[in-house]
Amino acid sequence: MPDRLVFDFDEPATGGRELLGGKGVGLAEMTGMGVPVPAGFTITTDACRAYMASRELPEGLEQEVDDHVRRLEERTGKRFGSHDDPLLVSVRSGAAVSMPGMMDTILNLGLNDEATEGLAARTENTRFAYDSYRRLIQMFGEVVDGIDAHLFESALSSLKQARGVQQDTDLSADDLEELVGTFKQIYRDAVGEEFAGDARAQLLRAVRAVFESWDTPRAQVYRRAHGIPDDLGTAVNVVQMVFGNKGDRSGTGVAFTRNPSTGESGLYGEFLADAQGEDVVAGIRTPQPIETMRDSLPKAFEQLVETMRRLEEHYRDMQDIEFTVEDEQLYLLQTRSAKRTAAAALKAAVAMVDERLITREEAIGRIDPAQLDQLLHPMIDPNAELEVAAKGLNASPGAASGGIVFDADTAVERAKDGPVILVRYETTPDDIHGMIAADGILTVHGGMTSHAAVVARGMGKPCVASCDDLTLDQGSATLGGRTLHEGDTITIDGGTGEVFVGEVPLVPPQLNEDFETILGWADDVRRLKVRANADTPEDATRAREFGAEGIGLCRTEHMFFGPDRLPVVQEMILADTEAGRRSALDRLLPFQQSDFEGIFEAMAGLPVTIRLLDPPLHEFLPAETDAADEKMRRRIRALHEANPMLGTRGCRLGLQFPEIYEMQIRAIARAARAVQERSGDAPLVEVMHPLVAFREELARLRDLTESVWQEEAAAVEHLVGTMIEVPRAALRADEISEVADFFSFGTNDLTQTTLAFSRDDAEGKFLTAYLEDGVLDRNPFESIDIDGVGDLMRIAVERGRGAKPEIKLGICGEHGGEPRSIAFCHELGLDYVSCSPFRVPLARLAAAQAALAEAGTGSYAAAGG
Ligand code: PEP
Ligand code: MG
Repeated sequence: MPDRLVFDFDEPATGGRELLGGKGVGLAEMTGMGVPVPAGFTITTDACRAYMASRELPEGLEQEVDDHVRRLEERTGKRFGSHDDPLLVSVRSGAAVSMPGMMDTILNLGLNDEATEGLAARTENTRFAYDSYRRLIQMFGEVVDGIDAHLFESALSSLKQARGVQQDTDLSADDLEELVGTFKQIYRDAVGEEFAGDARAQLLRAVRAVFESWDTPRAQVYRRAHGIPDDLGTAVNVVQMVFGNKGDRSGTGVAFTRNPSTGESGLYGEFLADAQGEDVVAGIRTPQPIETMRDSLPKAFEQLVETMRRLEEHYRDMQDIEFTVEDEQLYLLQTRSAKRTAAAALKAAVAMVDERLITREEAIGRIDPAQLDQLLHPMIDPNAELEVAAKGLNASPGAASGGIVFDADTAVERAKDGPVILVRYETTPDDIHGMIAADGILTVHGGMTSHAAVVARGMGKPCVASCDDLTLDQGSATLGGRTLHEGDTITIDGGTGEVFVGEVPLVPPQLNEDFETILGWADDVRRLKVRANADTPEDATRAREFGAEGIGLCRTEHMFFGPDRLPVVQEMILADTEAGRRSALDRLLPFQQSDFEGIFEAMAGLPVTIRLLDPPLHEFLPAETDAADEKMRRRIRALHEANPMLGTRGCRLGLQFPEIYEMQIRAIARAARAVQERSGDAPLVEVMHPLVAFREELARLRDLTESVWQEEAAAVEHLVGTMIEVPRAALRADEISEVADFFSFGTNDLTQTTLAFSRDDAEGKFLTAYLEDGVLDRNPFESIDIDGVGDLMRIAVERGRGAKPEIKLGICGEHGGEPRSIAFCHELGLDYVSCSPFRVPLARLAAAQAALAEAGTGSYAAAGG
């Protein structure tokens, strides 16, 4: 156990955010900068990890906490537990990685009956004292003793109703004193004993509760969704209370140094007068735009603006802060790098380079590649004439259509059958699983900084909040006067805040200038080339618009499924003789050729890798029960294999029925020649053979390829290569390279065959449990299993290049579009990655970040995201 588990905010502590958590580090750093921060101390994540292991506070912690409380007393001139002038503290969780709203906070610790009276007398504000006390009982009851929050909320609502008032702030001191009595009764009924009045006991129990909150199901779900390791633990910050609920000259708010939705420069945030922090974050009262502070609290506002400017300059990144004003005095309670939409991230990064706050390289490192996806999704057709059913706050951009659901569990359930929009009065951290499952989120209440808005932005999901024209009833909703039930379709536009009934027309996204600027900078620094997996001229064109530098995988089987082709393909499969097959293939050839011509034209001047037929033939035939006749039934039975993925597919098929590959090679060669003759621009054709395991397989197929090519297009340059997608091919890469001009790692099959995980079944079965139970950290079909599959790739690269240094190396499995895998491919020294067209921009950025990381400049992934 380390020597120390507690550090004051102004004490030096090595260990950074891992040890002190993000909030603790921010408070310490702000204290050091002279920013007004309340005094306090941080209990380290070491203490949390020790607690998690034994479920006991680690030895010595209580003593250290006592010592630090004593120092806090000296500093503030107040005494913890005093009845006369009590020191009150908040206890706030703070992990190394921000998890908004996932863990617990308790305010006003140190109050009891007598101290509340002392506080009232000292501040000459009885209302404030009882308001603080009722909040403590409520938060402590919920967080420490697990009392249902609803019980407290409905007692508060009933009291407001009885007094005929709308707002909490309309309740008088006497009302709040009465509410304290009711809350104590609720506490007594639920827990079976009186609310603990002893300040020290309150504090220690609260610390335990924050440690425990690290392991709540909602925190676990959040961590899984965001790839945060389970063993980080949380720090606990004990902070002297400052009060935003002292009347009109007090308040609390959250603010961003730039708009987190659009990235526009300038202070952006919300403020709630006479309130404590949880009122804002929970979306219980709708706050005012921060500019209202300029008139009501001009001095504090000015100080806030100046402080935020300093913070952004210090951190050289967009900040998101929480603050409180107590009697016109400003205090900062937290600063962190702001969660932002992809559009905001790009705009802010470009602006910060213009402002000379950061370099271009840093700007590249600031963008989460995975987030770019948000900008590449369809948006509502701006030319469509639509009837807007309701309007709310544009809390997180993007458009989504789906069936409405009113609770998180149903969202998860129904999302299995199609897109859903989660519709809630407001969301809480308990809704996290539903928010993950939903395509969009719509809330009646809550502002730009409500839980729904913050979490949706972090997830890149559309969200419309504060939608006044929406009312919810048991199992139904009224949206702009129309009654809707569970499953009814609506569309939300989180960029405008508009809500529509039914589905509306969507159009492809428009790439903006910031996007082009950052990706242009990324292109200047990356070494890996980025190609696309595309099977049609349309996909190829789109990929090129997104910056693809060629095609890394054209799966030709997709061309066999068209309604005009499938019957011919089936005729070929059903033919008894080679002559019969050839006759069908002759009719397929022109189709293939024209497909290839379209693709070559779309990719003029760039390399195009065409893979010959890969799947087993039975995939082109119907199920046996749907067979047209007895002949087809017999053929289906004959082609049946128990393990078709390990059966007659790929090059094995090509060697058994060479006439199929011959037709495909002929179509490719003719198309290449035709395009060259037409345009003068020769396509750089790469013919790729799938599922090769033995040198001899490729040697024979290479001969076939060359002989057909000589007949059709001798003058057109081309390469012949193979996928590396079975372990044997990786291990024998040296000898295979003798007959290959290039290798392309088919990491989908290579993962399947290396791990013996079926790519068709594993994800719906045991793999889900493996990920939930922590047997595996990540899905190996999404992110390369670097230790296993990655090792085979490394061997293949070494052996392949060892035998043939000029061999071209790439990857075309799904992993080619995943940032962590792209970084690995960079490290391996591959020449290119290839991924789906929509992921091309992401791959360009991730490849640049990998190059910068290698050069020692921080990258998004290297910085922990
Ligand atoms: C692969 O196996 O990684 C690959 C790209 O081929 P397919 O997904 O078509 O099997
Ligand atoms: Mg494959």
